[in-house]
Amino acid sequence: MHCKSAELAVQAGLVHNYGSGTFGFSHLGQKVLDNIESVIRKEMDKIGQEVKMNILQTSEMWKKSGRWKNFEGEEFFNLTNRDDKDLTIAATHEEASVELTRKYIRSYRDLDLTIYQIGRKFRDDHARNGLLRAKEFVMKDAYSFHKHEKGLQRKYQEFLDTYRNIFDKLGLEYSVVAADNSSMGGSQSHEFIAEAEIGSDTYLKCENCEFGTKNLKHETCNQCSSELRKVNGIEIGHCFKLGTRYTNSMDLTFDTKNGDEEQVTMASYGIGVSRVISAIIEQNHDEKGITWNERVSAFEFSVIAARHEDEAQEKAEQVYRELEDKGAEVLLYDGQQSVGEQFRDSDLLGVNRKIVIGNKFLEEGLIDVEDRSGDEREFKAEKLVEEAT
Ligand SMILES: [Zn+2]
Repeated sequence: MHCKSAELAVQAGLVHNYGSGTFGFSHLGQKVLDNIESVIRKEMDKIGQEVKMNILQTSEMWKKSGRWKNFEGEEFFNLTNRDDKDLTIAATHEEASVELTRKYIRSYRDLDLTIYQIGRKFRDDHARNGLLRAKEFVMKDAYSFHKHEKGLQRKYQEFLDTYRNIFDKLGLEYSVVAADNSSMGGSQSHEFIAEAEIGSDTYLKCENCEFGTKNLKHETCNQCSSELRKVNGIEIGHCFKLGTRYTNSMDLTFDTKNGDEEQVTMASYGIGVSRVISAIIEQNHDEKGITWNERVSAFEFSVIAARHEDEAQEKAEQVYRELEDKGAEVLLYDGQQSVGEQFRDSDLLGVNRKIVIGNKFLEEGLIDVEDRSGDEREFKAEKLVEEAT
């Protein structure tokens, strides 16, 4: 099947595909990535502490957890250094999070503890469909540590709500699907899946609420009894209750109030950040290009001088400077492209609003502002910056 998001991401110049599922982001792509990360960071800071764990990892902790060269379904990138020591380039950070928090978790007073990071991960996966399935990708991963099941349960619910807030703000439509745990071990998990034809997950989606299920024998929604529709989707987030799967094998304990020693209980939570870019494009594009929402778009405004007169060109530069001074992200075309090309480029990139300085400005002092959806509004030139922001 044709992957629209991969095509548009390259056409719009967001990413460079180096081949074999490895990507670089252009300045434009980096701005989009930054915007998505900042939405995630703002919500995550309410429920956890940001950290940065190691990407190049020695094998000891993986041997302790029992996952060295045994990470089901996904392949590690392993290497040996000059001292003949086994290393891996991190595919996930459950082990590293246990080691990082070990020195901070002594007694029940140190729990609950939640950490998260945003960074690159590496898996020798079969690359396809652009950012959807790559060997190198950006992920937000989080790990929570608890003294008992009740605390874990509370934090897990907080994460489900936080993920809803994040995906709502990013303009994604998604279902929440209770799922099996695959390679992570443990007892319960939830997937967030964004509907998209190109997606590799097939599930039943409620038309009326967020319920989704991978049990294709289901007939109606568990939550509202509405009809279900069989669709494909992209997994954008995942929450796992791990229990003591890692804290047992890696021996992470805490002292209880009574002075007993108990295993810490644990959960992990992921968002595929670069994959979210694909999911957003799959759900938000038209025949002209990408239609980001304002939180994600690299540029809120483009400024197009549709006439060559100095007066129009100077006004375009002035509007650009004033909008930038107000903190808006603005794209000013330098006049090398035709006006038609500027319009097409602005729409392809998904700039939210085009400011057009043309005939009406020269004749009546009016400036057109056109939404990406096509809605137009006129502003008096001297009021534009004040009223349009
Ligand atoms: Zn429903």
